Amino acid sequence: MKIVIVGGVAGGMSAATRLSRLAPEADIVVFERGPEVSYANCGLPYHIGGVISGREELILQTPQRLRARFGLHVRVHCKVTGIDRDARTVTVHDTANDTEYAERYDALILSPGAAPVVPNLPGIERALTLRTVADADRIIRELDAGRPITTAVIVGGGFIGLEVAENLHRCGLHVAIVEATDQVLAPLDPELAELVHAELLRNHIRLALGTSLAKVLPDAVELADGQLLPADLVILAIGVRPDTALAKTAGLAIGPHGGISVDAAMRTSDPHIYAIGDAVEKPDYLDGEPVLMPLANTANRQGRLVADTICGRPVHLRERLGTAIVAVFETTVAVTGWNEKRLRAAGLPHQAIHTHPTDHAGYYPAASPMALKLLFDPATGAILGAQGVGGSGVDKRIDIIATAMRSGLPANELADLELGYAPQYGSAKDPINILGYIAENLRTNTTRTVQWHQLANLQRTGATLIDVRTPGEHAAGHIPGSINIPVDELREHLTDLPAGPLVVYCGVGLRAHVAVMLLAGTGHDCVNLDGGYQTWYPANQHTCRQATDADVLAASPLRHEHPDTAVPLSASASDQPGLSS
Ligand code: FAD
Repeated sequence: MKIVIVGGVAGGMSAATRLSRLAPEADIVVFERGPEVSYANCGLPYHIGGVISGREELILQTPQRLRARFGLHVRVHCKVTGIDRDARTVTVHDTANDTEYAERYDALILSPGAAPVVPNLPGIERALTLRTVADADRIIRELDAGRPITTAVIVGGGFIGLEVAENLHRCGLHVAIVEATDQVLAPLDPELAELVHAELLRNHIRLALGTSLAKVLPDAVELADGQLLPADLVILAIGVRPDTALAKTAGLAIGPHGGISVDAAMRTSDPHIYAIGDAVEKPDYLDGEPVLMPLANTANRQGRLVADTICGRPVHLRERLGTAIVAVFETTVAVTGWNEKRLRAAGLPHQAIHTHPTDHAGYYPAASPMALKLLFDPATGAILGAQGVGGSGVDKRIDIIATAMRSGLPANELADLELGYAPQYGSAKDPINILGYIAENLRTNTTRTVQWHQLANLQRTGATLIDVRTPGEHAAGHIPGSINIPVDELREHLTDLPAGPLVVYCGVGLRAHVAVMLLAGTGHDCVNLDGGYQTWYPANQHTCRQATDADVLAASPLRHEHPDTAVPLSASASDQPGLSS
């Protein structure tokens, strides 16, 4: 059997090596138009910043090694330019020798990836993109070119844009990020994105949100709102588009989002052609609809599965959650499933929980705070998505939630997960368990919460807002219109409270939970402000385009000294998860 693979990186090379193991007798030919195969594109930003110093560390395999170990025929500098589906051949342009030839196949796998989007704007040819090792080389050459390079503008506040921004900052450049929407990292909801804005500002990254690139000038960029930003270097990172040129000219079916359409076994509309990776649309976990999800895990998984399909094994690609993680300076951002914006837009019922735990027991040194958000279906408890922003331990929590989602665990059953505990690693009630406890309380109507975005309306319609934190915390910063009655004094004031609905808040939601249980028990109509002041405060700074940088910096509860927002850090006994749930 002759198997031809187009693209020799994540998906293509996973398919090739799995095939070589399952069908050692097969003749497997991999065409890669670039000079390298099997390189770590996820490491490219860190090579630019010097974190991964050796270029060779990015190149995980060579054609020679792949031939020796797996028997693969890997041909670099070979671009596949056409597919003759009737003859079952591909046309190959060997760019090193400038020759063209046809190669026969019994099965053809397309893994051509996705290309950076480049808008057609004046001066755009000066802007660089980052996809391959050669792109990283070019950026490094620009930095080393001898002329003074002191400023960079990154267009696009997505995962790659932020990684490049951090690494150019590491090279000593003044960096600005231009982002067309009003927040970076679209998979985050705004109240969590604000924490990332704060981290970027704290690291002196300039943010131009809610505006877009209009023009690239010789040493600056002009934005749609008229701003001029100095830019010795311009990097475009506004997203990627599936590389479907070959598939389209071959007449293969294209999906609604412009990716190659494949079935669960990665077959295209031609039974002899398969497609995988960033170029294809995959089924979404929640609604099963095809989506683009340019992530390495899925490309690798599909590479393995397509080999199984070709070898006659039954295969069914599971719906994808889109679990992703990125480091932004000292902050980790991780997501899985859908965010609230998307759930709302789709009209899907959902309940949100915000918590602000630490990664391990607060009494043990160096506990690292984080903000976690869980979204679930209030009727079934099905977990719909989660987001985490913070220091250590965010990765672990989001991965646990992704695993819970994959196994169909409802939100309340997070309470039952037995997670390893010693004070260095977690808490006897891990942040995951706490999310489960809260979900349990909500699903059993033990308590009720309202969200930060519902508060203003509740206040307008007559609800009284009670801050149950200490007077010192209240004085240092509070939600306008709130009355301060510390939780420990609430019993003395039960009869003084105004009639009508009450919204109760504290730092993160725990003291307010105690208060709400007491108040509800004495006949009051009351709800807890979910996630407390630590959720409300950054959420209300979200208009950061209008705010000063200092305002946005102050929005971060992760590191600043404000006594209220520092509650989890300072291990205030009253907000310790062990005391109440
Ligand atoms: P690629 O790995 O892009 O491989 C496609 C290959 O096909 C390319 O080398 C291309 O030259 C070749 N090709 C295309 N057309 C032809 C042709 N006609 N003939 C011959 N060869 C052809 N994902 C994560 O999950 N986590 C991360 O941290 C992360 N970081 C990233 C950072 C950067 C800078 C980039 C660019 C991507 C990152 N990704 C990350 C995305 C991840 O790299 C991709 O999801 C993954 O590589 C997709 O695999 P693929 O096989 O579909 O395409």
